[in-house]
Amino acid sequence: MLDERLGHEIHLKDRPLGTPTENEFELVKVNIPRLKQGHFLVRNLWMSVDPYMRGRMRDAKSYLPPFQLNKPLEGDCVGQIIESKNNQFKVGEYVHSNFGWREFWTSMSGSGITKINPKSIPIQHYLGVLGRTGLTAYVGILKIGELKNEGKNNTVFVSAASGAVGSVACQIAKIMGCHVVGSTGSPEKVKWLLDEAKIDYAFNYKEVGEDNISPQLGKVCPNGIDIYFDNVGGNHLYAALDNMNPFGRIVLCGMISQYNVPSFPTPQSGSPNLFLAISNRLKIQGFIVRDHYHMLSEFHTNMSKWISEGKIKWEETVFEGLKNAPKAFIGLFKGEKMGKMLVKI
Ligand code: NDP
Repeated sequence: MLDERLGHEIHLKDRPLGTPTENEFELVKVNIPRLKQGHFLVRNLWMSVDPYMRGRMRDAKSYLPPFQLNKPLEGDCVGQIIESKNNQFKVGEYVHSNFGWREFWTSMSGSGITKINPKSIPIQHYLGVLGRTGLTAYVGILKIGELKNEGKNNTVFVSAASGAVGSVACQIAKIMGCHVVGSTGSPEKVKWLLDEAKIDYAFNYKEVGEDNISPQLGKVCPNGIDIYFDNVGGNHLYAALDNMNPFGRIVLCGMISQYNVPSFPTPQSGSPNLFLAISNRLKIQGFIVRDHYHMLSEFHTNMSKWISEGKIKWEETVFEGLKNAPKAFIGLFKGEKMGKMLVKI
């Protein structure tokens, strides 16, 4: 039981224009309501910050509704039940929900809440490699990218390759026997991709220069690219288009380089080389991970096996305390982290 029924949550105070700043967020003290029959109370332990949240900060129609001003933000989190008047959800149990960006939350029925088992793996991995992040990489590379066991002769290029999704996509492609090339934003991340994720080639796009990604890919993918897993959009996408093999697949997972452009998602100009998709008979497909939750069980089985075999490595960057969640979120756009960005509440 809580002595003092007070908690904190983070509200969106203003809609960011361009790259978000801490001024657009507010840490707010709130009362925790007394529980009615059927309710239970959860103390959040970990929350995820994700690039897609930037899209929900705009007042624009998309696949998810915009965040409301002066209301708590939402997102993936894991926590522990600390009070319960619901027989199905007992004190001490751990749960996953979308009620991130707050210290406490109550549920009236348990709808949309999943129980998790913290004994098998550290609980925060349900937000990363074994959660939506890992599933995104899995669905993207295997289903949308149509990567099958004959991957041996395939060249796969992944952008934001050392990030949460990218690093898993790279390693699944390696497991499938592909030649894997990744781009990332620092020498340390290049080293991690080569030494830990063990991909075949990694380069720092900031050192190469955004305008030189295409010739760089030409050099390091001499046989062309069969699958491009796009996390970045913009120049990375155009550079990949230049180097795709006939009948290649482009998996549009995310376009983080564009999220802070004020006109997004309306492009400033069209893709200069989209005709190459026709001449090379490419398949370009976007996807949203939530449409593929029916693959969760298959994903968990395969991912758990690969992890136990030491075939998947990952990193976490942890910010401590709810009040630092905006800093963690903003850090995503500056590349100020390794692997999955998490907040320990
Ligand atoms: P990451 O862990 O990859 O973090 C974002 C990374 O993007 C940064 O660390 C940075 O790495 C890179 N980055 C930021 N700005 C730029 C830029 N201007 N140009 C190039 N790289 C940049 O995040 P996630 O793994 O969570 O997400 C990766 C992508 O996947 C995002 O685009 C996201 O929106 C998308 N996504 C899509 C989903 C779907 O259902 N379709 C689900 C989940 C994520 P670096 O240092 O290498 O530059």
